[in-house]
Parts: sequence; structure tokens; C-alpha cells
Amino acid sequence: MAGILFIISAPSGSGKSTLVSQLRTLVEGLEFSISYTTRAPRGSEEDGREYHFTTRERFEQMIAAGEFLEWAEVFGKDYYGTAVSTLEHAKQAGKDLLLDIDVQGAMQVMKKMPEAVTIFVVPPNPQVLEMRLRNRSEAEQAASKTPISEAEIEKRLAEARNELKRIQDYKYALVNDVLDQAVSELRAIVLFERGVRDGVQAVAASCRTDAASPRLRASLSAFQEL
Ligand code: ADP
Ligand code: 5GP
Repeated sequence: MAGILFIISAPSGSGKSTLVSQLRTLVEGLEFSISYTTRAPRGSEEDGREYHFTTRERFEQMIAAGEFLEWAEVFGKDYYGTAVSTLEHAKQAGKDLLLDIDVQGAMQVMKKMPEAVTIFVVPPNPQVLEMRLRNRSEAEQAASKTPISEAEIEKRLAEARNELKRIQDYKYALVNDVLDQAVSELRAIVLFERGVRDGVQAVAASCRTDAASPRLRASLSAFQEL
């Protein structure tokens, strides 16, 4: 079972962080990769916990030294990357590893490691995505963090439509509508890929992108209609 690489990607605001943090409480033996980034820490984030926060100069040195499994400039602003050493540590510890990375980074890893198990989280429709982006922004405002701007919301919605175009490259697609359902689907995928069959096989199969479930088709067509 050890040594499986899981990749999860989603448009910003889809609920990926919420899903991943619930998964952590449900599944053992799964390491969560801590990426390097040049963006500033937000809220209560701590260096070495959510991210390794670093400078552009240091990040570019790491690129030149070939220290990244993948890296990307996300939202055209900041660098984000997964260090090769993170993968090696998980392997040595006999653990599976989960990468929470954007579509550009996921494409790079798929090329290098086609055996990686790829999961795309889809928001139910653009209206719900917009509402989640706004709700999160209000929560951040209440906590005196910098709120997301209207222009930023528009940009994230446009990016979501672009990212959704790559969904067929992912093995699984989860529609994050009802949270508990999406969490149990994510858990079922992880357990199924580890070889468990009882109680998870049908759920995992229904989440395959190529199964094109009615729920998935409805979400994708809602985004195409915009
Ligand atoms: P991401 O990590 O994909 O950017 P978050 O996990 O921060 O997204 O979720 C964005 C917002 O949507 C948060 O306010 C979160 O509480 C909310 N949210 C996430 N999943 C659901 C869900 N299934 N139903 C309703 N709200 C959700
Ligand atoms: P945030 O700044 O909100 O934490 O993350 C923004 C985006 O960057 C998310 O889509 C997240 O998945 C992506 N991301 C985080 N770490 C990495 C990484 O190491 N590589 C890539 N390519 N994307 C990352």
C-alpha cells in the first residue's frame, strides 16, 4: 500500500482545503506534502506547517539546482513548488503522499509519474463557486485579513473555467456539493487505490472521470453555459 502518490487539484474556492483537512482525520498513513511558495503567509499560517515560505531568489536557485519535482507560477504572481525531497521522505517513511497542487503542476507530475492517482474537485456550478469565494472573503474580512477584491473574484471564476478544461486528464472527479458526500467519496478513492474493496468499490468507480456521472455532467455543463 505504501508509496502511492495522490494529486488533488481544484479551482480556488471549490472546497479543496476543507475536503483535505477532513480526509486527514479519516485516513492514516497519508502524508501531506508541504510546498515551497514565494507568497506571504496568511492569517495563522506558519513557516514549515502550511508551506515553506521563501524568497523569489531562493526559489529560483532551487529551480536551477533541479530541486523541484514540479513548480508553477500560480495566478501569474507567486511561485509554488513541490520538492523532490518531500517525495523521497514519504517513500522512506513508507507512507502515501498527497500533493495539493494546481493544474499546471499536476500536468508536470503526470508526465514524470503517470502512476500518480489524480483527483479533480469540481464546484457544483459557477454561482456556488462565486458564493463560496465571497463567503470565504467575508470570513477573512471578519478576521481582519485582507479580503479578496471583486476583480480577484472575477479572475478566479475565469481561471476555474480554464482549469476545468483539463478535467479529462484526471482519473477521478469529485463534485463538492454536499460536503459529507464529497468527503466520503474522497476517502473511498484513497482506500480503493490502496486495494480495499469492501464498501468503497462502487463509490470510487462512480467518481471516475470517464464514468461521467450525471452529477459531474451537470456541473461541467453549468460552467460551459457561462
Ligand atoms: P479551496 O481550498 O478550494 O480554495 P476552501 O476549502 O477554502 O476552498 O473553501 C472555500 C469556502 O467554501 C470556505 O468558506 C468553505 O468553508 C466553503 N465550503 C467548502 N466546501 C463546502 C461545501 N461542500 N458546502 C458548502 N460550503 C463549502
Ligand atoms: P494558496 O495560495 O491559496 O494556498 O494556493 C493557491 C494555489 O496554489 C492552489 O490551487 C494550490 O493547489 C496551489 N499550490 C499549492 N502548492 C503548490 C505546489 O507546490 N505546486 C503547484 N503547482 N501548485 C501549488
